Amino acid sequence: MSGQPMVPAPRSQASYGPCVLLKHGEIFLKGRNRHRFTERLHDNLRVALRGIGGSTWIKTAQNVTVLGGQVPRDALVERARRVVGFNSVEPAVRVPSTLDDVTRAGVEALRDLAALGPVRSFAVRARRRDKQFPLKSSEVAAYVGARVKEALPHLPVELKRPEVLLSIEIDRKETYLSWTRLPGLTGLPVGSSGRALVLLSGGYDSPVAGLRAMRRGLACDFVHFSGAPYTNPSSVYKAYALARELNRHQPPGRLHVIALGKAQKQLAVAGAGRLQVVAQRRLMIRTASALAARTGAEALVTGDSLGQVASQTLANMAAVDEAATLPVLRPLLGWDKQEIIDEARAIGTADISVLPDEDCCQLLAPPRVTTRAGLPQLRAVEKRIDLDEVVGVLLDHVQVMLPGADEEPAAHAAGVCSPVEVSS
Ligand code: ATP
Ligand code: MG
Repeated sequence: MSGQPMVPAPRSQASYGPCVLLKHGEIFLKGRNRHRFTERLHDNLRVALRGIGGSTWIKTAQNVTVLGGQVPRDALVERARRVVGFNSVEPAVRVPSTLDDVTRAGVEALRDLAALGPVRSFAVRARRRDKQFPLKSSEVAAYVGARVKEALPHLPVELKRPEVLLSIEIDRKETYLSWTRLPGLTGLPVGSSGRALVLLSGGYDSPVAGLRAMRRGLACDFVHFSGAPYTNPSSVYKAYALARELNRHQPPGRLHVIALGKAQKQLAVAGAGRLQVVAQRRLMIRTASALAARTGAEALVTGDSLGQVASQTLANMAAVDEAATLPVLRPLLGWDKQEIIDEARAIGTADISVLPDEDCCQLLAPPRVTTRAGLPQLRAVEKRIDLDEVVGVLLDHVQVMLPGADEEPAAHAAGVCSPVEVSS
């Protein structure tokens, strides 16, 4: 994968300086093939660094990736936090592995922090990945702690619950000092579990489900069904904005938009009645299964949560699954609505999901949706339309877009913007 131009980590002492420590997530559970997961993680990191505006470098220590470059550290931190597969993201400095350099950097780091605002207490923790280092970890911590105390006598030491924990990680050639742990997105690198197709509506649930799937290592493309020609394009705009938001966390996936309105009408005319919503969902799943064969997806992902609404009862989910030719994954199956909304807020999709739209599911929805759609009745309705032809027509008219690819971060913040079509 081509990414940001990479320069090797500089060796000379003069160029040591700011960097970012990225602690690996579940990769550490992997055995012999761990390097493949690490390569994938680094490929994804390179994609996330695209367009950052300067050269960057990446290197690996044990279960840690070190990131640096000729760009402000805050910008590196912001990009790294988008990437799935890191447990934590830590602004850090890199110094040669000598006690003098480490001590100087430790004192400087705390002095800088104290200059920014009052620091209530501190502690120093050290870890040697290089056992050749002449001092033991506890001795390094005690030594550096004592020097900090000399330089900043008013700064209290608090070993149990310090406000600032200065962490020192000693490798053979260089040592990393960090003082903040920002949570990462954890999980497995996107792409390490294969590809999936996310059924993306404009609501809260499906984008949250999509990111959860990505955090289990699935590279995701998206499909959105609009009610066109009977609805306005608002739901497409939302799906585009949501896919763009999700694409910040992976090498961008494509959004496929399919106008379902006419096919929905055909089901209604075929007498779907109270089965209408489940029959539509089956048509979506059937069409998505066929589309997945084109995109290389091995599974479908939906935002269903068991029992949340009438269309998501166990019986209706089973009826929907029967129309799929691929596994239907439901990452939110056991989640409460409030948990889903909280997560949507945390990942930045809630502000888009809350916008009003004309959703295809509202179109032709019966006043009461059946909670136990029977397969024989569904099949009877479907028999009255030529399903293969309907799916074929839907796929012939799919619009393909690539939301968020090569966009600058400023454009991301602009909210919903007009979808741009790409050739498939
Ligand atoms: P969401 O918040 O994701 O819209 P929901 O609570 O509105 O979900 P449903 O409308 O029953 O629930 O949809 C269940 C799932 O079916 C969605 O999470 C999504 O994965 C899929 N789905 C529903 N409508 C569409 C659509 N128009 N396009 C693509 N997928 C859809
Ligand atoms: Mg919905």
